[in-house]
Amino acid sequence: MSPPALNVPRQSPLKDLDFSVLQQCMRCGLCLPACPTYAATKVERHSPRGRISLMRAIAEDRLEPSLAFGREMYFCLGCLACMTVCPAGVNYAQLFERARAEAEASGLLRSPGRSLVRAFALRWLFMDLNRLQLLGGFLRLCQELGLQALLRRSGLLKILPARLRELEAMTPDIQPQFSAGLIAPVTPARGPRNYRVAMLTGCAQDLIFSDINRDTVEVLVRNGCEVVTPPEQFCCGSLHAHNGELELARQLARKQIDQFAPDQFDAIISNAGGCGSHLKHYERLLADDPLYRERAALWDKKVKDIHEWLVGIGIRPPPNHAPPQVVTYHESCHLAHGQKIVTQPRRLLAAIPNLKLAELPESSWCCGSAGIYNLVQPEMANQLLERKLNHIQSTGAAIVATANPGCLLQLINGAKQRGLNLRVVHPVTLLAEAYHAGGVSRTDVP
Ligand code: SF4
Ligand code: SF4
Repeated sequence: MSPPALNVPRQSPLKDLDFSVLQQCMRCGLCLPACPTYAATKVERHSPRGRISLMRAIAEDRLEPSLAFGREMYFCLGCLACMTVCPAGVNYAQLFERARAEAEASGLLRSPGRSLVRAFALRWLFMDLNRLQLLGGFLRLCQELGLQALLRRSGLLKILPARLRELEAMTPDIQPQFSAGLIAPVTPARGPRNYRVAMLTGCAQDLIFSDINRDTVEVLVRNGCEVVTPPEQFCCGSLHAHNGELELARQLARKQIDQFAPDQFDAIISNAGGCGSHLKHYERLLADDPLYRERAALWDKKVKDIHEWLVGIGIRPPPNHAPPQVVTYHESCHLAHGQKIVTQPRRLLAAIPNLKLAELPESSWCCGSAGIYNLVQPEMANQLLERKLNHIQSTGAAIVATANPGCLLQLINGAKQRGLNLRVVHPVTLLAEAYHAGGVSRTDVP
């Protein structure tokens, strides 16, 4: 007979963490004003310092994980603004992942509905992107046949609970073609080939923003890169790592490394801030895996955000035919705070002729998207979205550029709700358009 579960020592992701990471916080409180959840509530528990104290108490066995602890870790946006301002260099990204894994390992947040959603989304749907594409294809069919519009007009949605109605309204438009239909497995450089790069097409990004992936490839080939884009790819695992499923994140990291052998490419390109921030830390994730550790270290060096890469190799100037436009720029948290990529997107925008950048107040303050935060913490997410939209409107720009699918969707939905005539766009799309303005057609990329 197997021993009762209570005798089995529970795995503790926080206790297993190198204690020096937790110890680094000197409780100075300089991070508090940068934290959106603290700014909104003024409650210490909702601040980085308060959260780190809770984590440390659990790691030191002074506190058992509780429901309040689990809820607190999911109230944190994971925006990493605290990391940018912390003078002690606390690695909050690592703490955040471990703390959510701790909350999951404790089982305190478990409920039948939550377990079902997590099993479906994290363990099934996002572990094999063929399944996600099937679902995306079904949604697209419903949208093309007008079934979604019909449902909305029919009034049937009124019988749903308010939260489900809100979620339905946030359903994104699915692209008519996914990346595999838009991008060839190998796209040659235009002109001399200076680099060979791999292109990561993402999971949700591929369904909702495959046009951005196409624009990214187009911009790369115009800048001397041959681009390898396998039609079948894997999720990077950030969704899993940020939601307490570190083992699933490790499985996906190994698949990525197997598919894109890092020694075969000059760079492995990501155009999504949230994914890039996670993709650059596979070495840490696979530190205990002797088979992958070394390749993961090389992988981390090769992963480049698209802005970082283009600015690094030098952007070929587009012809001076682009129409005048005023653009403001919202920084994805994981691009700005996670990857410290702040100047490069602005330099990319500055390379576009006739584009005037209107700086956005609080440009790196979270928009409330934060992965799936806007789905599970709607109240705080909406507060942040309102604040962001107010700032965007204050710039007078009719175009906002941002480089993360979550932020793009959040701002698209926010603009729709507010009835704003606002174009929400990835910076590479604006650069690709500037190249087209010179009379070069998109169809040049097979
Ligand atoms: S996380 Fe950094 S800034 Fe915040 S209290 Fe700790 S040491 Fe200070
Ligand atoms: S990640 Fe963001 S919300 Fe969480 S503690 Fe840091 S600043 Fe606050």
